[in-house]
Amino acid sequence: MPLIKATLLHNRHVDLTSLRSHNDRTVLRLVRSGALSRASIAAEAGLTPQAVSKIVARLISAGLLEETGAVRDGGRGKPRTSLRLAAGGACAYGAYVDRDEVRVVRLDLTGEVVSASVVPLAPMFTPPDVLDALAALVEPGERVLGLGIGIAGPLDFRDGVVSPNGLPGWSGVPLKTLAEERLGLPVVVDKDTNVAVLAEAWRRSMQDAALVFVGTGLGVGLLLGGEVHRGARSGAGEFGHTTIQLDGPLCVCGRRGCVEAVHAAAHGEEAARVLAAAVGNLVQLLDLDQIVLSGRKVLESPDLYLRAMPGLDVSVTSYGDDLVPVGAGLLVLGELF
Ligand SMILES: [Zn+2]
Repeated sequence: MPLIKATLLHNRHVDLTSLRSHNDRTVLRLVRSGALSRASIAAEAGLTPQAVSKIVARLISAGLLEETGAVRDGGRGKPRTSLRLAAGGACAYGAYVDRDEVRVVRLDLTGEVVSASVVPLAPMFTPPDVLDALAALVEPGERVLGLGIGIAGPLDFRDGVVSPNGLPGWSGVPLKTLAEERLGLPVVVDKDTNVAVLAEAWRRSMQDAALVFVGTGLGVGLLLGGEVHRGARSGAGEFGHTTIQLDGPLCVCGRRGCVEAVHAAAHGEEAARVLAAAVGNLVQLLDLDQIVLSGRKVLESPDLYLRAMPGLDVSVTSYGDDLVPVGAGLLVLGELF
């Protein structure tokens, strides 16, 4: 019986197990960076033209690549057929379980948002409430690779067991397993701040950067050496609970003077200055070259926060409210590249 169930589930989404070789991913990544001919892919990837032809044929028949017509590489010579990602070839869902709503986006193969939807969550919402919301917004289908979920930590990225801060009844919830059983799709769960920094790195080149998320709480997603840094227990980035003021205001974590508590107790320019001081510490500690600000608090008055951080390469996210759900979807989609 379990065997039959596994086969049925398997057939409902794209069989990508055969497309996850290193060379397949290299070809997809090169095509994502710009429409290319088979010859230029071979040169860039260090593969033989024959090998590239085989890989491309397989990716086209899987519906992930398509030919765009003829281009001339460097003027003279025979025109070559160029390739691009087939946007509709596969899609992924991303969800953000926030304090008061579940926001879901559907991404095409190029990472663009095809649709977005949101359902409110009642105060003290339970895990079954979240599963109901996801089931209402996610439509499993043939080309759906899976669902990524971003949620507050702490959590374990490897097994998808979550115990988000400040949510009563949410201790040790196996969210990944519960969502997979409910939706019949592969699910991956990560911290909201981690998927947020992943989304920023998808749009532009970043190596050593922090995504500062200022919502109900305050956290960072860290990109170090081009990779998301999760730490030994998926706990990295609890930036909001670093002490910035001895004997400062009481924090939800039970200690005093955390950045989160000091920031929340301040208003306007003073709040921006508190965040700027804390971000300055982070930049010095990790030698970061890019900072991206995000979250409802920042989006309400972005200029106030930007002005408080002169001398740093700081920007505000261009994703708006879709930042976390897009990043969660990219966690799934990114496995192809
Ligand atoms: Zn704290």
